[in-house]
Amino acid sequence: MDDKDKIICSFCDSDHVSLYSPYGTAQLVRQFYCHDCKSVFEFIRWRNTNQDNHIEHSMRFIQH
Ligand SMILES: [Zn+2]
Repeated sequence: MDDKDKIICSFCDSDHVSLYSPYGTAQLVRQFYCHDCKSVFEFIRWRNTNQDNHIEHSMRFIQH
């Protein structure tokens, strides 16, 4: 798992998460599981080559 970039939970902001599925509904979407609130959330990453920076956005996916 490459977690050099910190992934935090969309629901509770915990970093106690693990990779749930390398690919979600799209290629750039990865699914993570939060051990604290026991939720699965998607983490979207894409790169803006013009500005040469990352735009990261997480969104709610499934809440148990
Ligand atoms: Zn959580």
